[in-house]
Amino acid sequence: MHKKLLVSAVAAATLLVALPASAATPTPGAPGAGDPYYPTYGNGGYRVSHYDLRLKYQPATDQLEGTATLLATATQDLSRFNLDFALDVSQVLVNGHPAKFAATGVQELEITPDAPLANGSRNTVVVRYTGKPSTVSRYGFTAWQRTPDGAVIADEPEAAWWWFPSNDHPSDKATFDVSVLVPDGTQAISNGVLTSQSSKLGWTRFDWRENKPQATYLATLAIGKFDITTGTSPGGVPVLNAYSPDLGDNADAARASVERTGELVDWLSGYFGSYPFSSAGGYVPNVPTHYALETQTRAFYSPKQFAGGANTSVVVHELAHQWYGDSVSLERWSDIWLNEGFATYAQWLWSEHEGEGTAAQLADYVYTSHPANDSFWTVKPGDPGPDKQFDAAVYDRGALAIQVLRNTVGDDAFFKLLKAWPAEHRYGNGTIAQFQALAERISGKKLDDLFRTWLYTPSKPALPAAAKANLAATAPAAEPRSWQQIKVAQDH
Ligand SMILES: [Zn+2]
Repeated sequence: MHKKLLVSAVAAATLLVALPASAATPTPGAPGAGDPYYPTYGNGGYRVSHYDLRLKYQPATDQLEGTATLLATATQDLSRFNLDFALDVSQVLVNGHPAKFAATGVQELEITPDAPLANGSRNTVVVRYTGKPSTVSRYGFTAWQRTPDGAVIADEPEAAWWWFPSNDHPSDKATFDVSVLVPDGTQAISNGVLTSQSSKLGWTRFDWRENKPQATYLATLAIGKFDITTGTSPGGVPVLNAYSPDLGDNADAARASVERTGELVDWLSGYFGSYPFSSAGGYVPNVPTHYALETQTRAFYSPKQFAGGANTSVVVHELAHQWYGDSVSLERWSDIWLNEGFATYAQWLWSEHEGEGTAAQLADYVYTSHPANDSFWTVKPGDPGPDKQFDAAVYDRGALAIQVLRNTVGDDAFFKLLKAWPAEHRYGNGTIAQFQALAERISGKKLDDLFRTWLYTPSKPALPAAAKANLAATAPAAEPRSWQQIKVAQDH
């Protein structure tokens, strides 16, 4: 009783203060998160703290049934709001009450609750749905890949629409419980830790939990037959890897690479600080694609990543993203350099460790191997544009810029910075401007010129700039031995 009175008094006081300014009637949440590259991705008016996905999948028919429960906090007085989704919805409940819903735009699910949601309120949104994800096309493609014995979803920047409704933008991260029912003999793999597995009446349920905030595009699901290996790194990180049993000629090279995950997580921890998640690992399904992706705690590798033999470089790349991209995520997609520049630079550090070319040699090679008239230099790694978001320049020129930064601030400040960024923004988000500010704080140097020249200028930085950054830039540099492997991680 006393408590209730107290709450009322607080509410009344809040009302007195708030009423004149916010007497506004509830309004619809924005249909996009305001991203400069993908204006319709994500949504406004609320934030999601947790996704509970309860799925049933039949590999024989590609039929997916799901119930998604989202815990969402309103950030304005909401009359309605959007999720991003592409499958068929049969029912939506908001706080237990049936809500009106409609598919709009390309991937919008517009939800109108029976009563407005107050700013700051915590809400439960339930969406029931079905679909054959491989038949669902958006912007001319489907991110859902069928395999001979199941299916896989791992893509960037969009993947969620094909398997769960979400606020699909990395600026809104949440924890995940993913529970998947599949026919006995089939496995389901997702992010984080397998908390339970049980079989009944011909179906097996796999329960996965990612207990640290995760961007929606970093959620992954693989269904099929897998050989699973488990272990713990010397540094104490639990590792779970999975391999399709039908990888053919690439099977051994895949294992010889991905089985080194624990060793490489520990090695990277020396540069980036302690590993941020409760599990690490990767999986290699039988897919015809070429790319790899840093899906949180459980990286996705296409078998073709290992067509040239073992490739620890790509494993280093995807594991580096666990700090640079996953624990610290982009606030907007235009800052992709914070992901790809650093994951590539980690490969350069690994190359140096393996005696296959130092980071300095790799930087010289990137600088000298692209003449000034090469279109490579027209891409700004700090703002490449949506069409060039994953261009080679974002990776190679991006890593070059990091070497320039290292040469400019010195090794002490540089390696302090490499650890400070993931520590300061752990489980959150960051921008390039914030990274520059941190670099300036740690080094005591003004870095405007450096960032403008090496990240934001659509032409080759001139020789004086290269000399100032201590690049040995005058003579053409030889291709470092690690170069071809480093490039494989950029396949798309
Ligand atoms: Zn990457």
